[in-house]
Amino acid sequence: MTYRSSAGSVPAVRGVSFDLAAGEVLGLAGESGCGKSTLAAALLRLLPPGTLVTGEVLLDGEDVLTMRPGRLRAVRWNDMSIVFQGALHSLNPVHSIGRQIREAIEIHRPKLASTELRARLGELLEVVGIPARRASDFPHQLSGGQRQRVLIALALACDPRLLIADEPTTALDVMVQAQVLDLLARLQSELGLAMIFVSHDLSTLSYACERIAVMYAGRVVEEGPSAEVFGKPAHPYTGALAAAFPIIGDPTFRMRPSGLPGDPPDPRDLPSGCPFHPRCPVAVAECVTADVELWPAGENRRAACIHVLERVGVPS
Ligand code: ADP
Ligand code: MG
Repeated sequence: MTYRSSAGSVPAVRGVSFDLAAGEVLGLAGESGCGKSTLAAALLRLLPPGTLVTGEVLLDGEDVLTMRPGRLRAVRWNDMSIVFQGALHSLNPVHSIGRQIREAIEIHRPKLASTELRARLGELLEVVGIPARRASDFPHQLSGGQRQRVLIALALACDPRLLIADEPTTALDVMVQAQVLDLLARLQSELGLAMIFVSHDLSTLSYACERIAVMYAGRVVEEGPSAEVFGKPAHPYTGALAAAFPIIGDPTFRMRPSGLPGDPPDPRDLPSGCPFHPRCPVAVAECVTADVELWPAGENRRAACIHVLERVGVPS
């Protein structure tokens, strides 16, 4: 996925591949700028026009990237939908929340009778913990947490099978974050949703997800069952993310979730060899030149670090 901007081409995500089964929850971790949102948006073909996307996004074998516009519209919302971080920017300030949810239902269920429509609207609001009588409220009349709940109701309006949540709680207060996380976890299990949960906070993901993929510099650098990835990281970058516990109420955590010095590299100017080597606490000379790829790092686990080869043995 390469952005075309006035500042040139930005290869934001490269060589990422994963499967997601029905009802499975995958976490995407990594610091700001590592490509999480780019990957999430690409799955729904929501990247800005002109962005170069190669590869395939297969939904039950059908490639989202080559779908005709009509089919794509049907698939978005009906099959997969997305919740973004900033509820304030995703909701229309001049329409009531009830109207916005109703429109989402109507676009995809045009034949629904108005009584059914009203019932479905009330049901969706109740599901996300907002009393149905608040349907006539405007976004500014709701708290940040309630607005995020409205976005979740919108995303669920057409019964999708896959929900992508891109830092759905990051903009919220700590207490409210926990409530919205609980809501998402409950909905996921009640509705049997497949979910891709994006967060810079590995501890949140280990709580919410079965599997975690850690991204660095536009690539997946580690993936595996979440308890193992979080509890026994195979990649030193994951190790740094796992060791850096969030400091409650500290806004700098969002910017420095790894506790490491420096920042992830600019995708236009990646370091040679392993792109993590300049920040890596266990880098050796070879890391500056070695081509790293996702190597097996235990059962159902892979990591892109040459130290994995020493531990597990060189793959044949
Ligand atoms: P994350 O969600 O992990 O913070 P992003 O996917 O937002 O990361 O960004 C990945 C990289 O792509 C960053 O280097 C970012 O600056 C760049 N990027 C994001 N959006 C654009 C865009 N519209 N045009 C050019 N570069 C972009
Ligand atoms: Mg992002």
